[in-house]
Parts: sequence; structure tokens; C-alpha cells
Amino acid sequence: MLLHCAHARYVWNLAVEQHSNWKPGRKAAPTFAGQCRQLTEARAESEWLREGNVTVQQQALKDFAKAKAAIFTSGFGEPTWRKKFVHEGFRVIGTDRVPARRPDGGPLLNAKGKQVMNRRVIVSKLNRRWAQVKIPGCGWVRFRLTRRELPVAKTFRVTLKNGQWHVAFAVMPTPIPAPGTSEVVGVDRGVRITAALSDGRKLNCPGSTLRERARIRKYQRRAARAPKGSPAKAAGHARAAKLKVREVNRRKDWCEKTSTMLARSYDLIRFEKLNIITMTASAKGTVEQPGQNVRQKAGLNRSILAQGWGLLRQRTEHKAPGRVEDVPARYTSLRCSACGWIEKNSRKSQAEFLCVSCGFSCNADENAAVNVAAGQGGASRPVRRARAGGMTPRDQRSSVREPQPARVGISFV
Ligand SMILES: [Zn+2]
Repeated sequence: MLLHCAHARYVWNLAVEQHSNWKPGRKAAPTFAGQCRQLTEARAESEWLREGNVTVQQQALKDFAKAKAAIFTSGFGEPTWRKKFVHEGFRVIGTDRVPARRPDGGPLLNAKGKQVMNRRVIVSKLNRRWAQVKIPGCGWVRFRLTRRELPVAKTFRVTLKNGQWHVAFAVMPTPIPAPGTSEVVGVDRGVRITAALSDGRKLNCPGSTLRERARIRKYQRRAARAPKGSPAKAAGHARAAKLKVREVNRRKDWCEKTSTMLARSYDLIRFEKLNIITMTASAKGTVEQPGQNVRQKAGLNRSILAQGWGLLRQRTEHKAPGRVEDVPARYTSLRCSACGWIEKNSRKSQAEFLCVSCGFSCNADENAAVNVAAGQGGASRPVRRARAGGMTPRDQRSSVREPQPARVGISFV
């Protein structure tokens, strides 16, 4: 499987190189079909490549083509280099063939009237917890089931992360039906409270415990002090990585459970629109112009990424397709959810919101979540800071009152 990883990485990096060398005016970089032909030639020349499985290598090219086609929509941009020990993985396409079916259940025929066949991964269940899958060149490989049913998939991906092998089957999730109550929920994602809901609930994504963080530091210290290349150094890194995986697993688990809950209990789920990539962009700056608050920004970046904000939105969309909306994030935290007044002074502290116009008081995150549920990101006019040293008279205040949307189905606690 490590050799499969190496082949997939090599082929992917060749594709990256071909496309990164391309400049306007030069002949276009080869497409997927062209690259497959070049792969055949490369396999004829290189014994190392020939030893490997051709579909694993072709699937790496297919992955690259998909990544290239989604550079504007995936959020990851241009495909980049894959590194040894870091990006280890490969995709396998199923070898079993099953007749394709139409949505009404009848056989799917092509233009010539022949039955269309679909590829299917060969898996079999061993017992309640374990199953096995056929991997080319490796035979049956056992894996632990995380679901009751066996996966029905066309392809699967094998990855090696932090010393653990994982297998992930590409299964189309069945959408969760809407409850039909026409209820709307707003989700405000924050650093203190991971997700504040407009119904007043505050959900927190679990991370590492204090004890675990202390143990991670201990092993990192041991690894740092061990001599270069020693077994103690490798063991220290491995033990720290194993503890860090726990945090990642907890976050994923929380995202899955929360997104299922949201899809099940609300007809429409509104998230405030965040640009996580620019929010977490490094504040380091350059040598000539060093950035400000680099340490603080690094800490915030860590906590933003650790909260799994992007994952929650993504998984909710998968489970409730067409029922997820993004609301512009401007002023959702400064706008009063009761009267619509926008003012910086209303936000008393991290947790407290007290409207200076109508006196409505509420938890600040909950207030923002209600604004998100109402689809209100606030006015397009910038809010002016109130003058220092006391309040300005009411008629001179720099706030904007807006029409109130009908708040259907949003309950206050
Ligand atoms: Zn108010």
C-alpha cells in the first residue's frame, strides 16, 4: 500500500509540474486523456512505475483533473505538491460491475440499447465490527466498520495519516428529509462558543483536555531533546501525533452529530458567511514590513481551525441539500435582533449584548444567531464609532434603523 501511495504521489506531482510550467502562448498542458497516454509511455520506460497498479496511477491523474476543474469552487485553489509522509494516499476504483438502474428502478440502457454497467467496490462483512475490501496487489484488507451497513460505492480512498491507515468509501449520502415545520435556525460560529443557535442553545465542539495537552507537550519536549534520528525522537513524535488525532476525531464526530441534528430539526439553516481562508491568513507579513500581532493572530488561527467551522457548514449542506443559506456576516454581532439598531456600544463585552436604543438585552452570540436566522447581515452603510467620552445625543447617533423582517418560527429563550 505504501508503494501505491508513492506511485500516486509521483504521478500527481508530475501532473502538477506539467501544469505549473505552462505559460500563456505555450501549447496547452495535457488534459486527463493526454496524461493517461503519457502514463502508458512512462510505464513502458520505467520499471518502477510498471511494477505498480495502473488504475491506482490513473486515478491519481483523475484526482488531479478533478482538483484542477474545481480550483474556483473547492476553496483549495490550484493543486499543489504532495509530500512524502504528509500526503500519503491513493484511490482505487471498483472492479465489480453491476447493471445501472434508472431512478424509476428500470434498467438503464445506452443509445445502442445495451445495458449500462456501473463499477462497484468489492467488500464483504466479516462480523459486526470488521469487514474486508479488495485492494489491487494487496488482496483482501480488513478494516473496522464505522457504520452498520456495508458501503455501496464506486471508488474508495486509502490514506495513511499519523501512522494510521484509513479507508473512505465515496458514498452519496441520502438527504435527510426536512421536518416540514418551516422553522428557520441561525447559526453563529464563534471562538468562545463554537455554534450559538438562534433558539438559544449553545453548542461547543470538544477539543483536547488539559491533561491531554500537557501530555502532548511532554512528548513533544522529549522528541525535541532526543538526538537526531534516534528511535526516541520518532517515538516521541508518534505518541504526540496519536494524542492529537483524538482531538481531530472528536471535532469530526461533533460536526457529524450537530449537522444531522440541524438537518433533522429545521427546514432552513442559515450560517453567517465567513471567509475562513482570509480570516486565518497569516499575519506574519514580510521582513521589510513585519505584520502586527503575529502571535495573537497565530493563536486565533489555531482556534478558528480547531473549531471545525468549515466542516460543520459543509456537512450540513450534504445532509440538507438546498436547505442551507449563507448570510453576510457584517454587523450580525452589532445589530439588535429586537429593533434592528446597529451600534458598536450595544456590544458590552464578549458575552453581553445590551441595545442602546431599546434596552433589549441578550447573550451576544445568541443575538447574532437570531440576526443570522432572520437573514439580516445588517446595513450596507458602515457603522461609525461613537465618540469617546460619553454618548452622543440620540438624533446625532450614527446608527441605521432598518425594516424588521417577519420573525417566523424563531423562538426566544
Ligand atoms: Zn434594540
